[in-house]
Amino acid sequence: MQLDLSLFSSRLQSLFRLVRPIKGCSNRLSAEAESPLELTRMLFSMTHDVDRLVTGVVELLSLAQFRQDVDLLRLAFRRACGKNPDDTFRRIVQTESSYGTSSTWSFQTKLMSLDLIHYLVDNGCEVALHVVSPEDLRLKAKLQEEYEIEILGFRAHYHRLGHDILEVARELSYVYDSSLYGGTSPFRLPNGLLEIPITFEDGYLVHLYRNRNAKRLIEQTVRQHLDDKNAVFVFNFHNNTLARKREWELFEFVLRLGQEYGIQSTTCGKLAGGWS
Ligand SMILES: [Zn+2]
Repeated sequence: MQLDLSLFSSRLQSLFRLVRPIKGCSNRLSAEAESPLELTRMLFSMTHDVDRLVTGVVELLSLAQFRQDVDLLRLAFRRACGKNPDDTFRRIVQTESSYGTSSTWSFQTKLMSLDLIHYLVDNGCEVALHVVSPEDLRLKAKLQEEYEIEILGFRAHYHRLGHDILEVARELSYVYDSSLYGGTSPFRLPNGLLEIPITFEDGYLVHLYRNRNAKRLIEQTVRQHLDDKNAVFVFNFHNNTLARKREWELFEFVLRLGQEYGIQSTTCGKLAGGWS
């Protein structure tokens, strides 16, 4: 009988990789390493792109008309009264923390502030860049110094990942990218960067499906991959869309689902640190 040694060796390698501890969680430079994750099944990773800090009343009203959604009228009214419904940062972090989760926040560089970045990092979250152009990637050293953080990865705005961005990312030793949409597992790009693709995103889910169907789709897909040790489901919910009831309902559904199925959650940086 002939043994297929290559198959055996690749299984062994993959087993070794999956029980390897994943180091570091928050990206504050002085942060202490958290206890390592023991991977035996799929993982979740919650992420948030920060594309705007405030939405205007007129935009909320036209969105309410487009979506035929009275909840958006509520937000427009709150905004008209001087409130800022898009300021969901603390609510999100507190809710995630109640589920034992911490997330990765990809910021457009012009929207970063000391108050916000320190709040997120102090609460175990990771801060990454949401890049509009390759030039944003070049701000890495300056931003790291200014905010006392270590920036490991990025996500391109509108998922627009091109050679220009990839080249700068390699030149500046970024560790991971999370721009691609629809994947269920990280993989190595030809330039050495780890690609951690988004699996489900708020915009796609809410525009294409009723909430009931979106939940069903997520749960079915999770069940298919539950015991797949290479699967990492990355969710992306923007801070401003989480002001809306439908998106918030889906967001909490994902957190609850993770808890119900006993799926561990990690930040993208922590994942990239332990992925071989
Ligand atoms: Zn964006």
